[in-house]
Amino acid sequence: MKIEQAHRLKALPPYLFAEIDRMKAEVAARGVDIISLGVGDPDLPTPGHIIERMKRAVENPRHHQYPSYEGMPAFREAVSSWYRQRFGVILDPAREVVSLIGSKEGIAHTPLAFVNPGDVVLCPDPGYPVYSIGTIFAGGEVHLMPLLEENGFLPDLDAIPEEMRKRARLMFLNYPNNPTSATATKEFFEQVVQFAKRYNFLVCHDAAYTEVYFDDKAPPSFLEVPGASDVGVEFHSLSKTYNMTGWRIGWVCGHADAISAIGRIKTNIDSGIFQAVQEAAIEALTSDQEPVAELRRIYQGRRDLAREFLTKMKLRFTPPEASFYVWARTPSGLSSAQFVGRVLTETGVVLTPGNGFGKYGEGYFRISLTVNEERLSEAFSRIEKLKW
Ligand SMILES: *Cc1c(COP(=O)(O)O)cnc(C)c1O
Repeated sequence: MKIEQAHRLKALPPYLFAEIDRMKAEVAARGVDIISLGVGDPDLPTPGHIIERMKRAVENPRHHQYPSYEGMPAFREAVSSWYRQRFGVILDPAREVVSLIGSKEGIAHTPLAFVNPGDVVLCPDPGYPVYSIGTIFAGGEVHLMPLLEENGFLPDLDAIPEEMRKRARLMFLNYPNNPTSATATKEFFEQVVQFAKRYNFLVCHDAAYTEVYFDDKAPPSFLEVPGASDVGVEFHSLSKTYNMTGWRIGWVCGHADAISAIGRIKTNIDSGIFQAVQEAAIEALTSDQEPVAELRRIYQGRRDLAREFLTKMKLRFTPPEASFYVWARTPSGLSSAQFVGRVLTETGVVLTPGNGFGKYGEGYFRISLTVNEERLSEAFSRIEKLKW
């Protein structure tokens, strides 16, 4: 029997990292020592006190049953107090916060709550692929907003055609940005609030990297801007801040009606997060934040190494103020795939081709700072030996 896939699966964009995966397997089979600066997954372990709290929580039989769907009240209170301390944003834990099984899950499901077939969703290009994929699954139409270097990798709101503004139900934004590492100013967020009000769409800001910043320049939350909680929600996650990508916990907060709609989708799809994991997350959010400061120091050291390397290579890039990515132009006008392919086959270093994040990523590559300084230096010195 031939199994026919649904139109929504056929409508997905091609997986552009397949070629890299194939080449990587080939290089590894030759016995080359691979250094992966490809994936956005922190290399460092979850801080010990969080693990200890989890160990204790696992023993509690109360946590062995179905969790509370929208998140334990204590978890939502921890999120609310963390937002107040970090951003000065006041959130009602009962109505303005919902737990997510990682922010990816929430982002992917959000269009189901707001998008009817044929509605438009504004998505950044280059960008995290889940924004457009969630849109396609909901039957929506993606309108791409180019993130261009000359605009500091912020979308040009004036360039969005009138028809798309009117048909838009959602706009996805992500600052500090993956893959470009750009940060947004409050002035930009203020413009977004005015724009969203005027055209009546919900802003979905993905804030996964707000805690990974350098030189003491803490990036803002979208919700800090006046009027933002009237037009938007913000996705956040413990994944990057506390090295907890494997634990699967995050949240979405902001506009109460929007949060309630996302919650309704979720209660019909999943049954919440293992409460022991929620306990561990409460520990992470409410205990001493020194481990996060230490994490920033580590990434900053790696960022500095990448800056030296790219400067020496004479490649165009903006030194990141946040995130653990560096986004740079390929040398000699090479395409993303040509450059990344040669680096991989000739040095065993895995980089991510920029075009994998969208067509406006063509001509760029991304470095993930997720290996230690020794390995990073080794990777850079191998690449420096190549001639372009
Ligand atoms: C890593 C990342 C996330 C976080 O994903 P989780 O599902 O919370 O682990 C969200 N958005 C972007 C852009 C990311 O890079």
